[in-house]
This record gives sequence, C-alpha cells and structure tokens, in this order.
Amino acid sequence: MPEQSPLDLAEGDPFGPHNLPYGVFTTADEPGRRRLGVRIGDHVLDAGAAAHALGSPYATLLAQPSLNALLAAGRTAWRDVRRALTAWVTVPAHRPDIEPLLHPLSDVTLHLPYEVADYVDFYASEHHATNVGKIFRPDGEPLTPNWKHLPIGYHGRSGTVVVSGTEVTRPAGQRKTPADAAPLFGPSLKLDIEAEVGFLVGAPSELGRPVPLASFRDHVFGLTLLNDWSARDIQAWEYVPLGPFLGKSFATSVSAWVTPLEALDAARVAPPARDLPLLPYLDDGDDEEPGGFDLHITVRINGEVVSEPPFASMYWTAAQQLAHMTVNGASLRTGDLFGSGTVSGPEVHQRGSLLELTWNGQEPLELSTGKRTFLEDGDEVTLTAWAPGPDGTKVALGEVTGRIAPARA
Ligand code: CA
Repeated sequence: MPEQSPLDLAEGDPFGPHNLPYGVFTTADEPGRRRLGVRIGDHVLDAGAAAHALGSPYATLLAQPSLNALLAAGRTAWRDVRRALTAWVTVPAHRPDIEPLLHPLSDVTLHLPYEVADYVDFYASEHHATNVGKIFRPDGEPLTPNWKHLPIGYHGRSGTVVVSGTEVTRPAGQRKTPADAAPLFGPSLKLDIEAEVGFLVGAPSELGRPVPLASFRDHVFGLTLLNDWSARDIQAWEYVPLGPFLGKSFATSVSAWVTPLEALDAARVAPPARDLPLLPYLDDGDDEEPGGFDLHITVRINGEVVSEPPFASMYWTAAQQLAHMTVNGASLRTGDLFGSGTVSGPEVHQRGSLLELTWNGQEPLELSTGKRTFLEDGDEVTLTAWAPGPDGTKVALGEVTGRIAPARA
C-alpha cells in the first residue's frame, strides 16, 4: 500500500482546503529563515517554495518572511492567491511538486505572522459590557449612555502583541481598593483573560478619508483568535478617566494562524437587532452582507472547558468598528489589528472572562486543578473556535494559548 499523502485528509477535517489559514514558520535545520506557510490538515505548506516550483506569478508575494506584503497587495490579490493555493493542494497533478514542500506541524516553529502596526481594542458585547457595569458600578446603569450609539474602544500597545505559545509574565503594578488607605504595589492578584476575535487590516487607507461600512472587505484581510490578558486590580485603580493602560498593555496573545475572510463566507450572520437608530455611517440595516460571524469559541484553563462564548451575539460588528475608527479621518496601515472586545453570550457558561465567570472572584470556578477566581502562576489558557464552512463543513480557527509565568522580582 502506498504511503498516505498529507493531502489525503479525513473527511470533514476543519483545516481542509476550504480553510487554508496563513502563518509563518521556521524549520529546525534553518531556524533563521522565516517562511510564509498555509496550513492544510496537520501540515504547513511552504507557500513561497510552492509558488516557485509551480512557476506562479505570486512567487515574490509568497516568498516572504511575513504576511505583510500579501496584506498590502489588496483584495484582488488575496482572492487570486487563495484560488491558486486551493488548486495547489487539491489538483492531483500538482502532488509531486507540492508534497515535498509540506512540513508536519510538529516539526516547525510558528511565529507572529505579521508586523502589527496599530492595535485597537473594542468593547462590543452587550452581555459583557452589562456584566462589567453591574460589577464595577452596581448603583448605576450597567451600560454607559454612549454604548448603543458608538462602538467603544481604545488604542492599545501593538509592540506587546505576542504569538500563541508565548509565556505571559504576571504583571506588577499599583492597585487600591476602597478598603486600602493608600495604593499598594506588587504582582497583580486578579490576572484575567478576555476571549476575543482580532481583525487584521491588509490594505491601507488615505489620511482624512473615512472607510465606510461597504468597504470592510477591501481593507480587512482576515481574523484571528485573540486573548486580551487583563490585570483587573491594576485596571480598576488606573482606568478613570482615560481608560485601560497598564492593566492591559503587558501582553496580548494572538493565534499563529490568520483565517482569510473568504474562508468564512458561510459563517456570516446578521448581528442582534438594534435597540436604537444608528447614525448613517454606522447603520448597517441595508448592507448586502450580514456583518456578524457565527464563530463558536471555547475557553479552556489547563485543558478544562470553562466557557463557550458565541461570537454571533456581538452587538457591534467588525465593519462598524472599522467605520467608527476611521470616521474622523484616521487612516489605516497594513498590519493594523483591532480586537472585538470580550465575547460574552447571554448565559453564564458563555462569559468570556473570569471577571464575569466568577463575578469578580465572589463565585470561584471549581476546576479539577482546584478553585479559581483569577489565574494562578502555571495556568495555561487556550482559546479555540470553529465556524460553519461551505457545504456543511466546519472551519477551525487556529488556537491561541498562553501560560502564566510568575512575576519578575
Ligand atoms: Ca479587551
């Protein structure tokens, strides 16, 4: 019997040829040479080498150490390159050229596949925002008066976006509860996660010119799972009046794989009904393509499932977030990354942060590794997700994982 090809995937493999996420890898024999790759099953195809072997016009675009050249090339190139890659991994005649260029994932090291330009994080789940409001402002309205008029966000720290697998050192900082007479300094006692989806900008925009809702797909290349690590005690003391700062900026983890939007065409869903009329630049009621994505996220701590947040429940869409963050004329750069905000659904087991899952530590989770209010040193958090694909298939998103290392003395 001939040896089975890595291209002969099990039926229904969520990393089949209908998915083809992009990443960047190195091999053990050439650890200094980063290469752009495409995941197929449990293997990664050296995309630049494949393009060269097949005489493709995209050889220059794909023989790169990062995704940035492809990101900057724009939507027509994204579509054409994806068509070519799909053919390379599905047309039997290409197998003799392609098979030698497939590396088992267990043999490669994955890297952050793009250079992050600006990083923005939003706050788009009504359930999350309501829970946080109840926890931090128990005597006030849970949602602030602006919440249903604009997608709230802040600019974060792009230089500390790290790839899945990178250890996250427990941050130290100031904290002060109402019971403390003065601020205290030390390692965070309330280190948390935020299960999010990140959107990666490919094509830039012109300074001074807003990007309307309808141009979303001309600029956004794809998406990735994202964990916005958050130190709740540092955040609670510092955030008034300018918002998150050191409680968030120490690390943001993203998947090593970027899923192109085209792989998620079957996962587009309408966002929840709007409670208030929106200003025209945010009004997506007549948009041809529904703005939501039906992504099913799972959050695990040390392998144990603690939450299953539904991305389809997000009030604000990524297209609305893009329109809002450029409506003042701010321009986009290749590699801009914006996070959706914590994904929390209406049910208790759908909450995307420990803050909500334990109600700020008052209701600990019972895990097989012990009770958890917030993260302990050594804890490993993993986000995975899937979405409906074409013809009843599933599209898996690349996981994002990170382990907590003790604070540095
Ligand atoms: Ca966040």
